[in-house]
Amino acid sequence: MSAQSIQSILELRHTLADVRRAGRSIGLAPTMGALHSGHGRLIELARQHSDCVVVSIFVNPIQFNQRQDYDRYPRPLAEDLEFCSARGVDIVFAPSIEEMYPSPQLAFVDVTRVTEHLCGKFRPGHFRGVTTVVLKLFNIVQPDRAYFGEKDAQQLAAIRRMTVDFDLPVEIVEVPTVREDDGLALSSRNRHLSPLERQIAPALYRALQEAARLIASGLTDAQQVKAKAVATLHPFPQLQVEYFEIVNPVDMQPVERIDGPVRVAAAAWLGTTRLIDNILAGAFT
Ligand code: AMP
Repeated sequence: MSAQSIQSILELRHTLADVRRAGRSIGLAPTMGALHSGHGRLIELARQHSDCVVVSIFVNPIQFNQRQDYDRYPRPLAEDLEFCSARGVDIVFAPSIEEMYPSPQLAFVDVTRVTEHLCGKFRPGHFRGVTTVVLKLFNIVQPDRAYFGEKDAQQLAAIRRMTVDFDLPVEIVEVPTVREDDGLALSSRNRHLSPLERQIAPALYRALQEAARLIASGLTDAQQVKAKAVATLHPFPQLQVEYFEIVNPVDMQPVERIDGPVRVAAAAWLGTTRLIDNILAGAFT
């Protein structure tokens, strides 16, 4: 059956009110489209847990800090609709910018601390845009559960914290990162990589794995772990590291000594494409 495509907030609210009245649970997977198997995994889990699966597709302008990145973000809506229909999605909510922001947005959600480092440091205003649109989507859809990828771990941590701090009645479900066979995390931006860049790209995940291996082998000095892991990238000068950090997995603050679970997170540029990835490491007791 094909997914129902809805552009209007009012129509979506009416449709979901009927779903709720029938006692059916709602699962939401927020996306920016250009769907791939990573998004597919979110949908698959939502399909298992919830009676009605909603996928939102919205390239959210207020979370982009570079106009060029926003303009060239892929928007294959017809393919995305087919992708969703093939996976049993009930509703695709694909609003226009005017529908989501009929007048300039003046109210914002700012999750401090969690968004201070990593991507927050290099993409000013990005997380404020993300948490603001996610709160809007939560209020529009009122899902029982919402699905987010571990690939964007800082985003997930910020959304979790927003949900706790604002007492939002939604369960946040974390979905493990889906990767290509060579380890590269799936991303809508990967389609911008040249064939050579695509060959180099998995080195970032290998560096994260090296960090995790060093931590598992007992190295506790974060600086040393970082230096050794980043050194594995030296044969690939095309890969320009933006950050490579070891942080507390809950509040995303950098740690100096590793004495429990940590998240090793990195961002790197390959030409004009920005890659991010992360891995959980450390003691799991
Ligand atoms: P995006 O469309 O890139 O904003 O991503 C929408 C959701 O899909 C976010 O919660 C992402 O973390 C998640 N996601 C993106 N790529 C992957 C992946 N490779 N594995 C798992 N989840 C992903």
